[in-house]
Amino acid sequence: MTAHKWVYLFEEGSGDNKSLLGGKGAGLCEMTRAGLPVPPGLIVTTEACNAFYDNDKNFPEGMWEQVKEGLKEIERKVGKGFGAAKNPLLVSVRSGAAFSMPGMMDTVLNLGLNEETVQGLAAQTGDLRFALDAYRRFASLFGEIVMGVAHTKFERVLDRYKAQTSGGKDTDLSPEDLRHIITAEKQIIIAEQQAIPEDPYEQLRVAIAAVFNSWMGRRAIDYRRVNRIPDSLGTAVNIQAMVFGNMGENSGTGVAFTRNPSTGEKKLYGEYLLKAQGEDVVAGIRTPHSISELQKELPQVYKEFASITEKLEVHYRDMQDCEFTIERGKLWMLQTRTGKRTGAAAVKIATDMVYEKLIDKATALQRVTPEQLDQLLHPTVDPKTESVVLATGLPASPGAAQGQVVFSPDEAEELSREGAKVVLVRQETSPDDYHGMVAAQAIVTARGGMTSHAAVVARGMGKTCVCGASALEIDYSQQQFTVDGTVVTKGDWITVDGSTGRVFLGQVPTIRPNLGQDFYQLMTWADKHRKMNVRANADTPRDAKVARGFGAEGIGLCRTEHMFFGDQRLAAMREMILAEGVGAREKALDKLLPLQRGDFLGIFREMAGLPVTIRLLDPPLHEFLPSVDDLLSELAELKMAVRGAGTLADMDKVLDEIDEKRTLLKQVIRMREANPMLGFRGCRLGLLFPEVTRMQCRAIFEAACQAQGEKKKVELEIMVPLVSLSEELRLQAELINEVARKVMGEQGTSIDYKVGTMIELPRAALMADQIARHADFFSFGTNDLTQTTFGLSRDDSARFLSAYIEHKIVPEDPFQVLDREGVGQLVRIGTERGRATKPGLKVGICGEHGGDPASIAFCSEIGLNYVSCSPYRVPVARLAAAQAALAAEAAAAALAAAEQAAVEAGKEGSPAISTVASD
Ligand code: PEP
Ligand code: MG
Repeated sequence: MTAHKWVYLFEEGSGDNKSLLGGKGAGLCEMTRAGLPVPPGLIVTTEACNAFYDNDKNFPEGMWEQVKEGLKEIERKVGKGFGAAKNPLLVSVRSGAAFSMPGMMDTVLNLGLNEETVQGLAAQTGDLRFALDAYRRFASLFGEIVMGVAHTKFERVLDRYKAQTSGGKDTDLSPEDLRHIITAEKQIIIAEQQAIPEDPYEQLRVAIAAVFNSWMGRRAIDYRRVNRIPDSLGTAVNIQAMVFGNMGENSGTGVAFTRNPSTGEKKLYGEYLLKAQGEDVVAGIRTPHSISELQKELPQVYKEFASITEKLEVHYRDMQDCEFTIERGKLWMLQTRTGKRTGAAAVKIATDMVYEKLIDKATALQRVTPEQLDQLLHPTVDPKTESVVLATGLPASPGAAQGQVVFSPDEAEELSREGAKVVLVRQETSPDDYHGMVAAQAIVTARGGMTSHAAVVARGMGKTCVCGASALEIDYSQQQFTVDGTVVTKGDWITVDGSTGRVFLGQVPTIRPNLGQDFYQLMTWADKHRKMNVRANADTPRDAKVARGFGAEGIGLCRTEHMFFGDQRLAAMREMILAEGVGAREKALDKLLPLQRGDFLGIFREMAGLPVTIRLLDPPLHEFLPSVDDLLSELAELKMAVRGAGTLADMDKVLDEIDEKRTLLKQVIRMREANPMLGFRGCRLGLLFPEVTRMQCRAIFEAACQAQGEKKKVELEIMVPLVSLSEELRLQAELINEVARKVMGEQGTSIDYKVGTMIELPRAALMADQIARHADFFSFGTNDLTQTTFGLSRDDSARFLSAYIEHKIVPEDPFQVLDREGVGQLVRIGTERGRATKPGLKVGICGEHGGDPASIAFCSEIGLNYVSCSPYRVPVARLAAAQAALAAEAAAAALAAAEQAAVEAGKEGSPAISTVASD
């Protein structure tokens, strides 16, 4: 029996097998097979990582032997010996999961060095300083990554010695300094009761285990949670012969993208450092040079590199992110992978590649994620602002954001959990800061370039980031930074413009961006592919205009109660709610009528020719009334004020106010509900106070008649909220029709309109066949449907839902991503039963899920006619709907192919489909 294969040499692995070899490993295999200059190496598979966890954190049988055999092959290729005193082979050990997780997993360089081999390296290169520098890097990386010693401890030692040199840079350290540093590093490790093994094989063994262990480390788990990557994939380990970018003047190392990852411009974009090793560029230790300068410094190398990267891009048909090292004038490719990019770049690259005939339109649509598109719609700092620029760094990740300054990732997480908006300010970031970066609105670093950890990670998250703002003198101990004498302390507000690299003091106004031609082009392609319509939830003429500008094909939900936010309007609304008796209520309603009519008219004008769904009033009462607690404290204050009144007239005034407040308090107490979300709201209001429905319908129809008179085509849909009984809808529809007839008679005109209902209660979904008898359309209100299906309050769930998600009791927040199994089942049932009564019944969704890509995919799968979401999400929904349609087409094609294969196989007489019962 042959042993299981846990280890692949680069030339053995397939570039397609990312799940087994990891993304990085698969790329190395592919480059090796294509004959590119790749230092030889081997890959320990993701299967081995999973077996390690299944095996109580022990290597699976045979794995270690295969690693050693593979090493022999590498030794043979490079003509060096692992652990050999003369001419020693050094290797890098890196993680590599199937999905690129930039900076999230651990890397050890120069492994194989010990007191003996470091001498060999010095002799081999004729450069003692170089050998010692390699050794001190190895000692600190090994100490940090394999042994878990804090990075800052090593950094402090290095900084201390650098400060003593004349130039202050790492390249100014003498062999003597390096010796001292190595000794100090080893002492740091010993102080933690550990030691770096002298035996290189032992170093390698524990380093592999450390990479496996880091898969379950906090930062990796955090990253996977945010990016929805399953824990079960495991990571591969890449072990590769070292090449050195710090072997003198004509050596260097760098990272480059085949196109600009911020703008998408087709031009080699990247950074490099001469006399530097591995992580120096990415870690932002020194400020690197732009790749275009390499053309002057090492023209031959640049030419070769440019030609290789071009080939790689054509081969992968996507923008590549390449790492390279130059060792004494020889170029080595260390990695290629699909490059992370901003939303703007994603759109430009996808459309450009269609024009360049590298990809087709369907592929282009799949190349842009809904999140990236969303990024594109992010605000920018108002160019007219006269606010003072505090500092300028590199425009690492676009968008504008503001928040209160914090210096620690833990604090960023804590404060944002409490609802604060924070900006994380760091010297530079490391993967340990990830949770703080997730929590922050924006990130600012004082050091590091466009490919530094902060830049890459922030771009991936679509988070605003400015890097390398070197004017910032950060003092962590004082919790402040200083720029040219201005001191900014923890808690102060700053605004970050990640598109230009500027950092402003205070809260600077921001504006929405102008979308370019590529965006509109991509949207046109999306519209050709999608099957569902996309509407917007818009409550005002202004929202309606924005929505139409983003391509909304109508309004799916106009929440009429939202028209009463704002002081004056709120007062009228309150008066209506608190009115005792029909007479008083009608008086209050008379004030509301012209306000509503004006808004509706504005909306009909903006949406001429497109459907507009107006929902009758659904005010959860507590949202419109002052709280009892507030009223009580206001009363207490007024009572104090009586004592302090200077004159009798003043006292009278305060006493009157007290009377008013008391009356209001009594009314509020009378109206108070234990569960307002399940109380006197929705159609219940219109049924018990028909005058409310009458007023609203009058406003709607009068506005519709006027708009029609102005030659604006009105497509009116009136929607009844929170229905659970078909009788509720029947009665409200009757009332709507009555007012419609009356107003149309008065105006001498006729309006085409539909009456439909929201399906947002489980009973409504289950009884949809009966409800459909009175409905021209359905719209699923999945906010309330989620609340009532889970029995989980929309208002109170935030307190514990995050813990539920953390403990994996629910996979995601069901108020953000539709719960397909439960709530989704009701949506499916409601649709089927509604259409059983009325075939072709128009059905949509208008809960928040209407803007969530995964939920949109579900809606597309079950055949809804449209989704409705907030205006700024409309483009995202258009793209998500197209992607859903493309996925369905691909699935149908795969099924057809499988069926065809089954038929072919059947012809040949073999059983095509297994008859073994599945478990
Ligand atoms: C819903 O419940 O999903 C809905 C759209 O209505 P609202 O959020 O206004 O309750
Ligand atoms: Mg609702």
